[in-house]
Amino acid sequence: MLRKGFLILSLPFVCGAISKTNSVKQNAKYSIKNTNILQKDSKNHKNTLMVKVRIHKNKREILLSGYNVSVGHNKQSFNFDKKKLLVRRSNNKILFKYEDNKNSEVFKILNSSKLQISGEFLRSKLRSLPKKVEIYINPKGRGLDLIVEVGIDEYLLGVLPSEMPASWPLEALKAQAVASRSYVLHKMKSSGKKHFHLESSTLDQVFRYRPQLGKVFEKKIKKAIQQTSGVLLVDSSEQVYKSYYHADCGGRTEGEFFVWKSGIKNKVVRDSFCPLSPQANWKHKISRRSLKYKMEKYLGEKIILQKILSQRKTPSGRQWMLRIGHYKNNPLKPVELSANQLREAVGYNKIKSAFFEFKRNRNQILFYGKGHGHGVGLCQWGTRALAKRGVGFEDILAHYYKEASLYSVISNKNKDAEKWALLW
Ligand SMILES: [Zn+2]
Repeated sequence: MLRKGFLILSLPFVCGAISKTNSVKQNAKYSIKNTNILQKDSKNHKNTLMVKVRIHKNKREILLSGYNVSVGHNKQSFNFDKKKLLVRRSNNKILFKYEDNKNSEVFKILNSSKLQISGEFLRSKLRSLPKKVEIYINPKGRGLDLIVEVGIDEYLLGVLPSEMPASWPLEALKAQAVASRSYVLHKMKSSGKKHFHLESSTLDQVFRYRPQLGKVFEKKIKKAIQQTSGVLLVDSSEQVYKSYYHADCGGRTEGEFFVWKSGIKNKVVRDSFCPLSPQANWKHKISRRSLKYKMEKYLGEKIILQKILSQRKTPSGRQWMLRIGHYKNNPLKPVELSANQLREAVGYNKIKSAFFEFKRNRNQILFYGKGHGHGVGLCQWGTRALAKRGVGFEDILAHYYKEASLYSVISNKNKDAEKWALLW
């Protein structure tokens, strides 16, 4: 049963959200400004947003395999079949050669900073890739980047089961779909002139291109995407909302500002459902020596590790600023850092959240806490619990994203017309 308190609290927001979702008005403001972002999706035969995802970052070489593979850029192109393709970087040129068990070609040099590859069953080691990929010279490093471009629904199909188990309730997956869609749109809008929009790792959203998922789960994941098609979260000025999410808030969510020192101070949402999750409580023991080593590596300076002191906590009750000693070369300069920096230095999977306390035991420090992840935005374990209680995805999203509203970019008149351009 849904708790009364929650229902009463969420109703005014939910009503607003639903009416907004159902009545999107056509407006000149939503005309297409950036046509490059809309392309014909060959699979679905409709104009859709194309998302560029970085699969490999700054690799010295990339080995691909596939059938009927074509390699090239502009007018130069080479075709081959059932062979492996090795791409390498030499200064500011891309070199590639294709080979099979019997023959190996010499490297061909392409006078371009970009290589386009298309083929059937393209793979990079065990990783499946879409039919078209691009390899770029990494502008900052010495290696190569592999970028794939997929339609937004195909992108979400690769994100959803990576970010939330497909076995979870449909309404939870739908809430995740909307959060992931808003997140990617926000990134696309803010990626500027980069040659890709977002990473395929936890730095953004985990993306695995999946040509097949298995019948049961594929159907369910597709349903979650299709039933929320075109629905996203927007802020009070109708700009797409940067919808963060995390595994488990430990009972209270966190404001973006308190984690990254920028962004908004989102309202803390109380979540009484997630403390029952398997990751509700955690402990991490670390020796003083190991902590000192990790901190020095992170800070790039020698330090004198002293007693750890909690200096400030966030409104949700998480650690915010900590003091752990002083710099060796400057005894007057204290080593102060945020809980998020400490997590980054020690390991996000070791100190699982900033919702922790600590105690010293001889030469060891014990960190113990609750929750998993930064705590901003949607709590996935809480979402699961709400969905299991019969709460719909709109109400789940309204519960976690107090500063956002739901918006549909698909008009009632023309179901297929996706007006994504309103965001640009
Ligand atoms: Zn939670």
